[in-house]
Amino acid sequence: MTNKELADLLLPNVDSDVSYYEEKYPERDLPEGAVVTRFAPSPTGFVHMGSLFASFIEKKAANDSNGVFYLRIEDTDQKREVENGVTGIINDLNNFDITIDEGMLSETEEKGAYGPYTQSKRRDIYQAYVKHLIEEGLAYPCFCSPEEIEETRQIQEKRKQRIGYYGRYAKCRRLTNEEIKEKVSNGEPYIIRFKSPGSFDNKIKVHDLVKGDIEFPENDLDIVILKSDGLPTYHFAHAIDDHLMRTTHVIRGDEWISSLPIHVQLFSSLGFKAPKYAHLSPIMKEEDGKKRKLSKRKDPEAAVSFYHEKGIPVPAVKLYLMTIANTNFEQWYDANKEKGLDDFKFDFKKVSGSGSLFDVDKLYNISKNYISYLKASEVYEGTLKWAKEYDEEFATILERHADYAAKLFNIEREQKKPRKDYSCFSMIKSQIWYMFDELYQNVTDYDFKTIQDKDEINHILDLYLNKYYHAEDDKETWFNRLKDLSEELGYAKEVKQYKENPDAYKGHVGDISMVLRVALTSRSMTPDLYELMHLLGEERVKERYLTFIKGNSD
Ligand code: GLU
Repeated sequence: MTNKELADLLLPNVDSDVSYYEEKYPERDLPEGAVVTRFAPSPTGFVHMGSLFASFIEKKAANDSNGVFYLRIEDTDQKREVENGVTGIINDLNNFDITIDEGMLSETEEKGAYGPYTQSKRRDIYQAYVKHLIEEGLAYPCFCSPEEIEETRQIQEKRKQRIGYYGRYAKCRRLTNEEIKEKVSNGEPYIIRFKSPGSFDNKIKVHDLVKGDIEFPENDLDIVILKSDGLPTYHFAHAIDDHLMRTTHVIRGDEWISSLPIHVQLFSSLGFKAPKYAHLSPIMKEEDGKKRKLSKRKDPEAAVSFYHEKGIPVPAVKLYLMTIANTNFEQWYDANKEKGLDDFKFDFKKVSGSGSLFDVDKLYNISKNYISYLKASEVYEGTLKWAKEYDEEFATILERHADYAAKLFNIEREQKKPRKDYSCFSMIKSQIWYMFDELYQNVTDYDFKTIQDKDEINHILDLYLNKYYHAEDDKETWFNRLKDLSEELGYAKEVKQYKENPDAYKGHVGDISMVLRVALTSRSMTPDLYELMHLLGEERVKERYLTFIKGNSD
């Protein structure tokens, strides 16, 4: 019995002419150096930070080179599947603006000429290549039961030998085609294994774009390539798909590094050119001076929903991801403030081989800086969008006072050194709530600083309202009046003056303006007081001070 006859016996309904697929999925017509990458998750319904990071890099590498970034769904392990698992992944990617050039668009729709982009829909393709390998004498059926495999494993363990189906343990590899035929006609179930041409004693070297040259023993495992359900294993699907989809760069987590000897061997046995590999280390976190992996259980920022819930603008998250993706990015960005992410070229050589460190404070800092350069209307829109999802009451207030809110967000903005006080949209309310009367109700907690004495506070406010408050004043006049008020009450007009002769004064103009600030807003840290008063308007300023004085007199 020839191998061809054996192949027909095992896969009777499959056409083994793989040249059909080679022609159907030709080399891509792309500019020289264009990088084709893919994000290839199982349809588990969500993306975690590690894979979001990988997909960000995949897209960036493709974009930088006018290449292609595509989404392939790897659902050959049907036990791991989740209902609507593809939708969840697509939503997560879209939320971070990681859009695809090709691949799955929803549970069922896709775009691109290299599909299907869902592995379970590629059964015929895999089986054609499996049949082809059987014909070439590079694959064979294995009739070992799970119990037998387990038994072998225990023996190997006892003998302190490598675990797996190889060498003398690869029983079915030695079956003749006639013996196989008999087993098949007896109805014995089987799977298909790759007949590894390798020897464990040989050393091979694989170049990884991130980790450099890595030396491995050659693969000698006869791995399963086609399972009893007719679907391929991950390894086989990886070789077939990345070849036929003409992936040039496989960027993935380094948990796959130990499989590289299998992968390079599969590519070579199939007559395919292997892609370039870039294995990313897990994202790390520093805790108590030690590094550990970012953990889904311990670190809220490991879930991609975190960024959405906090209202960290997506471009800021992307800037941060770039900071941890390429060690030279931060310096480049500092020197090229006016430029954007698209102007920076991703470099595999600048990826940390030992794992990028995730630092939430740094992320917030980047976000704070980013928000400070937004227009007031953008801050308004961002905050409103966040509030609509997480704080309905605040959303209603923002909509009711749209112009007012935009003016509020414009204070100390759109200037060379804008005020930096919002690190994410979710914290904006806690910084400016007092500017909305609906929220400024029954306030009792006033953050007075140097001047605490009730009578003194009331006295300052009284005099201010009756003599020094003129709503129409420009900023300079307003401030000069604060100085005059200070002088009249025995406080120094200038801080400097006070410092030179502290015994001569009760305090200084800063103490006075602090009283005005706190009595108006309850907070000691606010944006520019003059601007706040101006925005509140005469009536509300007076009303707030009078209400305060009244409450402070009881
Ligand atoms: N489906 C694999 C995973 O989710 C993809 C690995 C790869 O990118 O090759 O880990």
